[in-house]
Amino acid sequence: MTSKKSRAEFPAAVKVTSAKRAAYRCGFPDCDRATTGPGASGGQSVTTGIAAHIYSATDDGPRGPGGFSFNERQGIDNAIWLCAEHASRIDKNNGVEFSASTLQAYKRMHEEKIRRERDGIGAKTGWIHSISLDQAPIFRTPAEIEFGKVTVLHGDNDSGKTALCDWLQGMSDPGTLCDWADPKRPGSLSFEVIYLDPLKQKLRVRVQSRDEVEYFVNGEPAPFDPNPIRFVRLRDLQPSRFSDRLPPMTDLEFLSRTLSVNPALVRNMMPLVGTQRTSTVAGLRLDYRQDGSIRVWTDVHGTSPGLSLQDQLSNTERCRVLIEIAAVFARYSAKRVPTVLLLDWAAKSFDNRWMSRVVEFLSTEEIPFQTIIERVTNGLGGHSMARVVTLYGSKTDVTVGPSSSL
Ligand SMILES: [Zn+2]
Repeated sequence: MTSKKSRAEFPAAVKVTSAKRAAYRCGFPDCDRATTGPGASGGQSVTTGIAAHIYSATDDGPRGPGGFSFNERQGIDNAIWLCAEHASRIDKNNGVEFSASTLQAYKRMHEEKIRRERDGIGAKTGWIHSISLDQAPIFRTPAEIEFGKVTVLHGDNDSGKTALCDWLQGMSDPGTLCDWADPKRPGSLSFEVIYLDPLKQKLRVRVQSRDEVEYFVNGEPAPFDPNPIRFVRLRDLQPSRFSDRLPPMTDLEFLSRTLSVNPALVRNMMPLVGTQRTSTVAGLRLDYRQDGSIRVWTDVHGTSPGLSLQDQLSNTERCRVLIEIAAVFARYSAKRVPTVLLLDWAAKSFDNRWMSRVVEFLSTEEIPFQTIIERVTNGLGGHSMARVVTLYGSKTDVTVGPSSSL
């Protein structure tokens, strides 16, 4: 029996802040119900919303204490503002349906939507909620993966991390789906994506052959899904099949190809890199050499200033520069269009400390987009901000676990 005293109740001020940050509207996706309004008489108002606990107020409550102290569980970071119906729904069956990272993602998305409304920015917010695989190569099906604000896809080589990125991107670009078509087995790739734009939308995709993809939007057949989600993808450059080395290219070409962005746009984005509080890269600049080549110089926090991108930075440092440029692109894109950053390259050289810093950078409130990161090596250094999805086995199983257990 839990006594009243041992519940980590929110102080009144935390409840009010939680409500105000949500504009007194329910933060559950696709609900958005007003939770305050007129009362019985002219002089009264009634508030029906609830500051719900993300991690539980008690040790044995829904989602548990998540390793957080009593005081931390009374804080604003642990509160999500919901209508009464959804506050009760997230706690059903001890909260199994709604993980803490899912609720944190809902809260972030709702607050971002409110921020945009308040600031008069007409752009929509959007979010990829989940992918359900009915038929798929590599994976043991059916399988379902829910996404957080930052999701780390964690697994061995060939466990399906890149495949998932390809399939998600296939929501709006069939080009990345068609390589997965098996001519002998039409329909061998079939999945459903639930996304919020901010209303809940269901997109079913069935790949029949290299030039035949069927889309169903909310159950209705559609020639394509006019969804507004934009993917920004950072990927490893593959050497040609005749060589194990990449062809020589200038720094600008290297950036352009890794980001799949025109060199002119890379140049336009360079001055914006390093302007964030959390940035550790600055001073990105071009140097035109007499032989006609273009070099990119940068200052990376913790190294000597003014290093050349391809020649002088370590692999880890170069990856961090690439992530920051990709994040600038995604952040700018997210001003108008819901955006997902796919960091679909093996950050093999990242140790836990760097990985934690990258996750922390991408989890901050000032980052308005969702990120999916591939990770090969083990561990996240006990980081609790990312949703960690582990893929393993010869026919891949999916498990979702708290990162602290890795
Ligand atoms: Zn609601």
